[in-house]
Amino acid sequence: MSVVLDIKNLTFSYPNGDFLYKNFSLNVKKGEFVCLLGPSGSGKSTLFELICGNLKQNDGYISHKKLAQIYQDPYSSFHSTYSIISQIKDTVKRNLTKDEYLPLCEKLALDENLLYQKPHKLSGGELQRCSILRAILLNPEMLLADEPTSALDSLTQLEVLKYMLDMLSFSGILLITHDTTLAKWCADSAVRLGDL
Ligand code: ADP
Ligand code: MG
Repeated sequence: MSVVLDIKNLTFSYPNGDFLYKNFSLNVKKGEFVCLLGPSGSGKSTLFELICGNLKQNDGYISHKKLAQIYQDPYSSFHSTYSIISQIKDTVKRNLTKDEYLPLCEKLALDENLLYQKPHKLSGGELQRCSILRAILLNPEMLLADEPTSALDSLTQLEVLKYMLDMLSFSGILLITHDTTLAKWCADSAVRLGDL
């Protein structure tokens, strides 16, 4: 199976801070669901930013295939003043036809009309499913999600995870969470940052 995220011997500290990781390695293969566990402050979101290239490591390397992200707070991952569909089109940088996105909406149990609304008209669960729709339409080989369900109620949480699991046929997933029960339920394997 092809490796879609490869982290080797990663070492990182914020300026004037302690090392969050020293020689940390992790890989995710296509079709694999890996959870990154760790208590608050252990460096999970920092790793997310390192993978996205928004921070630079002190040492080691990170490589990944085409990446899509799902963020913790769906409201902050969409602009408040534009419709959801116009923002999805902007992100995927191509013309989307209804033939392409309507079957996915059906799968995600998303009413088409919601896509033409501005984000604040939708519930957190609905908007997070729009984030998943956006991620799927990017055709990623690697899906990176930082606490994607922690702002949702437990029923919606399972729903959102189920939709993410559906993506596995064409990508690898790294789910960042502090929730060990969730990790046991959905992941093939788990890596714990606090153990390092
Ligand atoms: P987690 O997502 O696991 O809760 P974070 O990656 O957000 O952890 O933070 C890890 C540690 O790095 C924390 O101690 C946090 O205070 C510190 N930290 C996070 N962002 C910055 C920053 N921009 N500058 C300095 N320290 C930071
Ligand atoms: Mg975090």
